[in-house]
Amino acid sequence: MILKSWLPYLDTYIYLLATPEILTFVSMEAIQKKDIRKLSLAQLEEFFLAQGDKKFRAKQVYEWLWNKSLKNFDEMSNISLSTREMLKTYFEINHIQVDLMQHSSDGTIKNAVKLYDNMVVESVLIPTTKRITACVSSQVGCSLSCNFCATGKLKRMRNLNPDEIYDQVVAIKDEAETYFQRPLTNIVFMGMGEPLLNYANVLEAIDKITSPEGLGMAPRRITVSTVGVTKMIRKLADDQVRFNLAVSLHSAINETRSRLMPINDTNPVEELADSLKYWYEKTKRIVTYEYVIWDGINDDERHASALAKFCKIIPSKVNLIQYNPIDEGDFRQAKQEAVDMYVKILESQGIIAKVRKSRGQDIDAACGQLANKNEVGELTEN
Ligand code: SAH
Repeated sequence: MILKSWLPYLDTYIYLLATPEILTFVSMEAIQKKDIRKLSLAQLEEFFLAQGDKKFRAKQVYEWLWNKSLKNFDEMSNISLSTREMLKTYFEINHIQVDLMQHSSDGTIKNAVKLYDNMVVESVLIPTTKRITACVSSQVGCSLSCNFCATGKLKRMRNLNPDEIYDQVVAIKDEAETYFQRPLTNIVFMGMGEPLLNYANVLEAIDKITSPEGLGMAPRRITVSTVGVTKMIRKLADDQVRFNLAVSLHSAINETRSRLMPINDTNPVEELADSLKYWYEKTKRIVTYEYVIWDGINDDERHASALAKFCKIIPSKVNLIQYNPIDEGDFRQAKQEAVDMYVKILESQGIIAKVRKSRGQDIDAACGQLANKNEVGELTEN
């Protein structure tokens, strides 16, 4: 008897001879091993049931794969040897690899992470007295071309898979424990790429990060930062997400913002404001605006007042980020007086504004500096 079994989950259909315990294959060569982490828990349960095994076996394996982040089947100590061998026949476990780890004098660590296809992204561990934050990438390169950002100078090569995002968090969690003997407390999607242009995978990764079978982290410890893709901000609101939203604003005046960020041509300030109103109506969550003040670009009172006005649209706070030079280009951090003037105007209107010091500049790990300098060859398109 020939069985056509659970194999829809494999790329190739294989016909099994009916002795499920022995699993004799007509053609072993026909098996293309599938990445087991592409299966949902429900799919894995179906697989084990089709093998004549217990449904709970799936949960055990799933926890090894996600919660414990095992990289091979042999370490799954509560799974029998024969089951482990069977799993190896069908599946492989794909994992990212931290290829290069750089330590900054301020404690920041930058990982160059090699993906399965040898492409490289970067993620950063940022330690402070209260927190250890993982800053993760969502795309290889970026399509948005913000003029002041090193990642923006790279081409967007591809979206990251949910597991590639998840693995970056796990790598940083392990480093937090190894180097600081402290747990990872926060995650920010502020690495390479635009998370809202890789929407489904980012949300799936967050789902895993927050689920009990995954890392069990609270959604309020996660922040997704966007350049301001208004359609997707509305979608986040519709999907009732429970994590935080940050918007890279940099100017609340269209003319200036378009000069800095080409996305503003199609998603202008008014539309951004509308999408944020929608976000707040649906989620009741405040938004953080990220804002760099540049010398001679947005360092005057007109820009500061426009920002204050924008901040009144919905409950919000402002992070005034220090500019991290990326080349010899036109951008320079504004003078201290300009930063003070912004803080004064914002605070006089009851808006919370924090001046953020840069971290990890000496290893190009600060905001906007992630550009695979050490692996740039991987990112040039042939
Ligand atoms: N694409 C998303 C996620 C990247 S977050 C977004 O734009 O929000 C990276 C943050 O660093 C953004 O706020 C970005 O505007 C900021 N940034 C980019 N280049 C920078 C630089 N050279 N100095 C300081 N901040 C920079």
